[in-house]
Amino acid sequence: MTLKQADTAVVGGGIVGLAHALAAARRGDRVVLFERDDFAAGASIRNFGMIWAIGQRRGATYQRALRSREIWGEIAAKTGLWAEPAGSLHLAHRPDELAVLEEFVAGTPEARDRGTRMTGAREAARRSHAVREEGLLGAMWSPTELNVDPRRAIPAVAAHLAEEYGVRIEFGTSVRGVELPRVSTTAGEWRAERVVVCSGNDFATLYPEVFADSGLVRCKLQMLRTGVQPGGWQLGPMLCGGLTLLHYAAFEECASRAALERRMRAELPFHRDHGIHVLLSQTADGRLTIGDSHAYASTHDPFESEEINAAILGYLHGFARLPDPSVTERWTGYYPSLPDGRTELVVEPEPGVTVVNGVGGAGMTLSFGLAEEVLDR
Ligand SMILES: Cc1cc2nc3c(=O)[nH]c(=O)nc-3n(C[C@H](O)[C@H](O)[C@H](O)COP(=O)(O)OP(=O)(O)OC[C@H]3O[C@@H](n4cnc5c(N)ncnc54)[C@H](O)[C@@H]3O)c2cc1C
Repeated sequence: MTLKQADTAVVGGGIVGLAHALAAARRGDRVVLFERDDFAAGASIRNFGMIWAIGQRRGATYQRALRSREIWGEIAAKTGLWAEPAGSLHLAHRPDELAVLEEFVAGTPEARDRGTRMTGAREAARRSHAVREEGLLGAMWSPTELNVDPRRAIPAVAAHLAEEYGVRIEFGTSVRGVELPRVSTTAGEWRAERVVVCSGNDFATLYPEVFADSGLVRCKLQMLRTGVQPGGWQLGPMLCGGLTLLHYAAFEECASRAALERRMRAELPFHRDHGIHVLLSQTADGRLTIGDSHAYASTHDPFESEEINAAILGYLHGFARLPDPSVTERWTGYYPSLPDGRTELVVEPEPGVTVVNGVGGAGMTLSFGLAEEVLDR
């Protein structure tokens, strides 16, 4: 690459930026990616690493998730990145949870075609030793979910872009402004034909007017991780319970969800008020990642609530049994979220510049597929 010149410049080294850099590089562009920190430290390394196709709205979004999963698989095959096709189990300990799952499976042929189906309690417990079998009425097994460890996967994808496609990755470099073909950075001027702005939670530095008009708010989440589980214990599929059925868009068309919502509101008002639903995954080295809560505002305090952590863990222990549940890490994460169910914000504030943001809680799941669609527009 000629020094300081590129076809496509990407702002942001989170998963959205990496995905756009990959899509541009695969089309043959010379690509430079700017990340203002020494390594990406935003939402993309703070998540579960769940490539969670099953939770996405049926139709185009589900297909986008499946395409992203395929690309994660391609990268894993080339780089040796750990990407475990663990699948997922939605556990139903109450009749209204079972009703939503059964309605979902019956009404979603595209998921059934991919192997999603109802199972009995026995089979669920066979698939994962963590499953609490007492009172379990049934479960939904889905084979499409993939598990990566974001702390390893995000740097690994960046390294892959550099090695396989010659993408120039400029860490510790902030983009201050764009006036095509000039891209002004803290490490000097670049020239590019196209810029893709994937700045995550930073709405202020570049194109603030786009963000001001977007309706985006920030979501704050609390997460926990245990230490390595003893004796090489394996979780198997990623797990969740009834609250998750109220969280993901996949289930919004299920008429039976209204009754579940009424009961949860009556029985678990604290969980509903704090947007708690509980997911469990395992890292390659055997730690368990647990979360999360959701609070929406334009600005958040940085403080963690132990009451929320206790509510997350209490709910988890209702459906899962862990050999060593001791928590060794707690953290908060933040991502921009669109309020009206939209899955992304894609705006062209001027010719040659595209702002991509607002992927909410599904950036790991959707970004690779989204980036291909954005660059094809
Ligand atoms: C706790 C938590 C759990 C989650 N779980 C999942 C999950 O299991 N599965 C899933 O699919 N999704 C999950 N998500 C959502 C997912 O993490 C996000 O959708 C995704 O990481 C957003 O990626 P991003 O690239 O937009 O943002 P970020 O990862 O925040 O990256 C934006 C980057 O842009 C850089 N930047 C900003 N401005 C500039 C500038 N001017 N110049 C240079 N660099 C700049 C920042 O430094 C930052 O590194 C979760 C999120 C959280 C917080």
